[in-house]
Amino acid sequence: MIIVLKPTTTPEQLVSFTEKLKNDYDVKINRWDGVHSTVLGLIGDTTQVDIEYIEAQDIINDTVTIGDGSLHIMAGPCSVESEQQIVGIAKSVQQSGATLLRGGAFKPRTSPYAFQGLKAEGLDLLKIARKETGLPIVTEIMRVSHIDMFENVDIIQVGARNMQNFELLKELGKIDKPILLKRGLSATIEEWLMSAEYIMAGGNDKVMLCERGIRTYETFTRNTLDISAIPVIKKLSHLPVIIDPSHAAGKSWLVEPLAMAAVAAGADGLIIEVHNDPPHALSDGAQSLTPAQFDAVAKKLFSLKKALT
Ligand code: PEP
Ligand code: MN
Repeated sequence: MIIVLKPTTTPEQLVSFTEKLKNDYDVKINRWDGVHSTVLGLIGDTTQVDIEYIEAQDIINDTVTIGDGSLHIMAGPCSVESEQQIVGIAKSVQQSGATLLRGGAFKPRTSPYAFQGLKAEGLDLLKIARKETGLPIVTEIMRVSHIDMFENVDIIQVGARNMQNFELLKELGKIDKPILLKRGLSATIEEWLMSAEYIMAGGNDKVMLCERGIRTYETFTRNTLDISAIPVIKKLSHLPVIIDPSHAAGKSWLVEPLAMAAVAAGADGLIIEVHNDPPHALSDGAQSLTPAQFDAVAKKLFSLKKALT
């Protein structure tokens, strides 16, 4: 669970609030002090946490619990490209209602000659954007030896190509951090759930599943979004389901209808790629929305969600 505090919170209020949380619940608390706000990450059994009590406190700006029935949008560029780019996009998607910032620092690319990401520098830039906005950050890990480098990342993404990298999954099972597990390009739902099981078997039960389209006979779209995965996963498990319409579609104009379908089918969250200048993006420009397009899509998604609840 992620708690964003108001900028007016005093150090005394912060200490007494975190002490109370630690006394009342079996949780560990990570703290990040930003320029505009302080963010607390609660790790442990957060199912017991009294969310109404927390939200009633004067010092609370916002709380983020994925799978609590509200809609969470993780938005940001496919690749982190510069400080100006990531901070600018973070601020605009936050204004449009995104609750998490997603951007790639380590990029798995089909061609070895394509941009591979800013790597460690990209992680630093994401942290700067978190400091500026208070938005928790989500980014992809590609190898076991990088786990320590991801210590300060709020949610670690395992990409489609690594869904069955069992050694990586086992190591992520040993850490206490939410993992966003994308479905492999040709994985069945059962194989995907078994991969989630690899993480959970190690003791880390904070797994979210992300459907990002699977490979079918169809070539018009980049992949085929499997909407049925949403109710199926919900029937077979308790895990939150996140839908990535951007990688499913491969085309920006398809993002809105696919995202709307996902919300209607009960998705807990969405990943949407947003870029300040899609034609010049270093990766996945064709499927990226501009901040203005994202704003319009987010408005429709939140009003659809409201109409459904
Ligand atoms: C990504 O999320 O930027 C990505 C590479 O996605 P996927 O692993 O779903 O292809
Ligand atoms: Mn991408």
